[in-house]
Amino acid sequence: MAEAPQGPDPRGHAERLLAWYDRHRRVLPWRAPDGKRADPYHVWLSEIMLQQTTVQTVGRYFIAFIERWPTVRDLAEAPLDDVLHQWQGLGYYARARNLHACARAVVDRHGGVFPENEETLRALPGIGAYTSAAIAAIAFDRPASAVDGNVDRVIARLHALDRPIPDMKPEIRALAARLVPSRRAGDYAQAMMDLGATVCVSGDPRCVVCPLMEQCEARQLGIAAELP
Ligand code: SF4
Repeated sequence: MAEAPQGPDPRGHAERLLAWYDRHRRVLPWRAPDGKRADPYHVWLSEIMLQQTTVQTVGRYFIAFIERWPTVRDLAEAPLDDVLHQWQGLGYYARARNLHACARAVVDRHGGVFPENEETLRALPGIGAYTSAAIAAIAFDRPASAVDGNVDRVIARLHALDRPIPDMKPEIRALAARLVPSRRAGDYAQAMMDLGATVCVSGDPRCVVCPLMEQCEARQLGIAAELP
């Protein structure tokens, strides 16, 4: 049986990526200022909105929501119709219904405080494996592995995996988890997301400015742009 690719050294990989993130992180309305921990309510709200919707569009909806409902308790107490109305334009209304149900569950089950661990988060309405890992990492700095479509692509390229991404999901998940550092796990999760969104982009990756260029197997093989 062929051995699984070993890929980049986990420690060196995280150090390079975090140093890049400290200089190039995107400024997004739901992110905490440098060195501060993000509000779990903001992380959760933005992650639900970002499912199927671009960062640019989500920005103004996110701000409108937190101005109208500054805490998860405020959102839980709002009538569902008001939430659906505010959601207009984001589409996929099941998300808005789950958003409201989740806010109520956070209040009813957890006293209005988001739980910190992935398993408890995943038991809440509308929160799947990716979203629970993103909240655990970004809001609580837990070493959770949040793998979205952008991160799938980065991991596949780092290891020069050349099969279609849907066929490699378990392998990608395992390789991604191996790279998560125990320190600054929240920054690391956001750094991987930023790298996939701004440098290791679909189609034509910007390898010459990539902090992982020396560790990337696809780049070394000259096949980065051919991978999904
Ligand atoms: Fe992506 Fe290129 Fe960086 Fe590899 S070197 S991770 S392909 S941008």
